[in-house]
Amino acid sequence: MSRPEQITLALSKGRILEQTLPLLKPLGIEPLEDPSSSRNLVLPTSDERVRLIIVRATDVPTYVAHGGADLGVAGKDVLMEQGGHGLYEPLDLGIARCRLMVAGPADARLDGQRVSVATKFVNITRRHFAAQGRQVDLIKLYGSMELAPLVGLADFIVDLVDTGNTLRANGLAPLEHIADISSRLVVNKASMKLRHDELQPMLDRIAAAVGHGGNG
Ligand code: AMP
Repeated sequence: MSRPEQITLALSKGRILEQTLPLLKPLGIEPLEDPSSSRNLVLPTSDERVRLIIVRATDVPTYVAHGGADLGVAGKDVLMEQGGHGLYEPLDLGIARCRLMVAGPADARLDGQRVSVATKFVNITRRHFAAQGRQVDLIKLYGSMELAPLVGLADFIVDLVDTGNTLRANGLAPLEHIADISSRLVVNKASMKLRHDELQPMLDRIAAAVGHGGNG
């Protein structure tokens, strides 16, 4: 079914998929099935040299680093949390933009005594507070972080914030900015060397599409 010489691009469902497909369309790369409804995890495209694989957002760097995919699109949050080892990160796609923030009850103070922070970004959070010389008790969660302060599980959360509506709806406010986040194109290091002639023109065209220009 799949041909080994195809270029494999790893994407995750949701914002990244929705915002990457319009970047690929001008390159003549469109999935032949609707990825948001298809149960297939390997999707052929209108360019027979390119196929898409659909994986969890947090698995994209793993697939690309270990050669399960030549290319992928991963959030900077995921790359910061996991360390981005074994990958090239040549291009900021400028999509799925948001901010990584410390949030909590609007009147809460972050200074002073030791606090607890619930998040799925434990590494980023540890580094953020350590850089300020503050110690925190980390509580690892996998979702719905905004619930934690409401039920007394943690004093604060670290989460992605876009419009701020989710925080507001739960009586929370953004308190401290950690990083601006957007999605990055990531490339397998061996593929970049061995398949340079195929990949570089693709990277240049995507770069041009997102306004970075190409260097041919
Ligand atoms: P908002 O209510 O618009 O501030 O969005 C916040 C919710 O959407 C949180 O649950 C975030 O985890 C999630 N979110 C916002 N932006 C992104 C993004 N670029 N990538 C992944 N999740 C996001």
